[in-house]
This record gives sequence, C-alpha cells and structure tokens, in this order.
Amino acid sequence: MARIELHVHFEGSVRPHTLAAIARRNRLPVPQPVDGFRDLHHFIDMWNVTTACLRTPDDFRRIVVDYAAEAERHGAAYLEGIFTPDPQLAADLGLDAIMAGYCDGAAEAEETHGVIVRLTPEQYRGADPDFGMRVARAAVRHRERGVVGFGLAGREGRFPDQPYEPAMRYAAEYGLGLVPHAGEAAGPESVRSALRMGASRIRHGITAVRDPQLMAELAERRIVLDVCPTSNIRLGYATERDHPITQLSRAGVLCSISTDDPAMFFTDLSREYALAADLGVTEEAAFEAGLAGALCDERTRSRLQRM
Ligand SMILES: [Zn+2]
Repeated sequence: MARIELHVHFEGSVRPHTLAAIARRNRLPVPQPVDGFRDLHHFIDMWNVTTACLRTPDDFRRIVVDYAAEAERHGAAYLEGIFTPDPQLAADLGLDAIMAGYCDGAAEAEETHGVIVRLTPEQYRGADPDFGMRVARAAVRHRERGVVGFGLAGREGRFPDQPYEPAMRYAAEYGLGLVPHAGEAAGPESVRSALRMGASRIRHGITAVRDPQLMAELAERRIVLDVCPTSNIRLGYATERDHPITQLSRAGVLCSISTDDPAMFFTDLSREYALAADLGVTEEAAFEAGLAGALCDERTRSRLQRM
C-alpha cells in the first residue's frame, strides 16, 4: 500500500553523511549528532545548529531529492515537505532563491524517484511577524511550482499566535492550505487557536486528547492530525506504550503518520508506521487520513487513490 507523509521538515531529514558533506562545502563546522533532547525548546536549539549548515539554493534542492529517495524506499508515493526560511539567510540570498531551491528539488524528486512532492513553507513563533508575512508572500509566488500550504512552527506556548495570523490569512486568501503546528508543547487551547486561524490540518495536535469536545470537533470536521510518534516520544510528550494517537483514533480523529525530523530523531517512515500499528493505527487508516489531509489538487488525489 502506498504511503502518504504530510509532516516532514526537510532540514531535519538530512542524514549525517550528507550534512557533513554540505557543511564542509560551505566551510562550516560539521555538527555533531545529539541523541537526546530535553523538550521542544532544546530540540529547536539543536535544529538551528543543523540548519545553519544549509546555505545555498542547491543545498535545498539536494536535501529534497535525497529525502524523496529515502521516502521512496519506505513506500512513500506523496510527500508534503516543510521548510522554514531563516531571516538572516533570506537577507543574504533572497526568499525567492530559497523557495526556488526547494521547488527545483520537488520537481527533480518526482522525475528521478517518482515521489510526488508538494511544499509547505512556514513561519515560526518567535520570529518577526513581518518576516513571516514576507515568507507567506514568497510562498504564494511559488504556488505554480508545488507550494500548496503555509505553516506555523517554533516555540509553541512561548509566543502568542495572534501576531502571526495576518500572514496565515494572507496565505489562505491566495489559496494555500494552512498547516500550523499546534497541540504538541501546548495544550488543547493551542489546537483551538489553530482552528480559529483556519487550519486545514494540524501538525501534531496530540494534546487535543485532553479535551473530549475538541476531539469530537476534529473528528466531525475531518481535520487531520499529522502525528509523528517517535518525535513525540523523544521530546517527552508521549511514551511508546502510552501515546495519545490510540485514543484520538478511537475517537474517530483522522491521524496521518509522519517522521517530523527523521535524521534528528533517528527514525524513518517504516519505523513510524510500525509504531503506529502497535498503537492501533493501521496502514489503511493512515493512508485514508493522508489522502483526506493532502493539499494537492483533485487530479493528484485521485491518482493517489488508485495506488
Ligand atoms: Zn514538525
């Protein structure tokens, strides 16, 4: 059965040998792998060290193609990949050059590996909201090249969502689906905030489990949660035996299965599917959720349906 992965950060998918090669080429120190994180905030600090190695549009092209090759080996037919432009790098290269690198990668990935890759760039909590708006505008400019959504990530719970909403609204107005991170480091109120801003899907969303009314709303509206079991376990938001996905899917909430940052969490798509199966989410249920949540056009969706 084909797999659909909707929540993977390309910057966190770069395997150590590729990262070392890119760092050396950019004359930067090679980051050392970290095998434990205290929480989301510690993880983001380490994530920033990794992403600082990626400096050129060609680096972005390469990491998309590399990850598509890996995902194909794990049965993926469709990916929605995330990237988070850095303000300093955007000042150096320009946002359009960064976007073009990722778009080139998406086109090459499909041609070379047969994996359909769509892109969902994002702004992040803690960044200057004006920068977020510039990212949204650049995302909209690349709609014809595979950008289908716009997200919000970063330090959930430490910054209010409200300053980031104008960029989300702008992206939605121009036809991009909204795919914010919510309900990972913060509680159900954060998921509600994401719904208020018009989320098409929620990245993580697992703390919705604490609020039966919210779970019922997610199920009824068929709002898909992009759940990443290993990520949740490694960041201390769940355990292997006790993960909210079991209760969420029993409540009828559609849960797609993803890796989040596979290189940083030492995981891959097959492992995530195996974990999900142990937690009560079958391959078929994950596919159904993936298909329901994918932001692709209807032609692509029916192509996926036939797989
Ligand atoms: Zn994520």
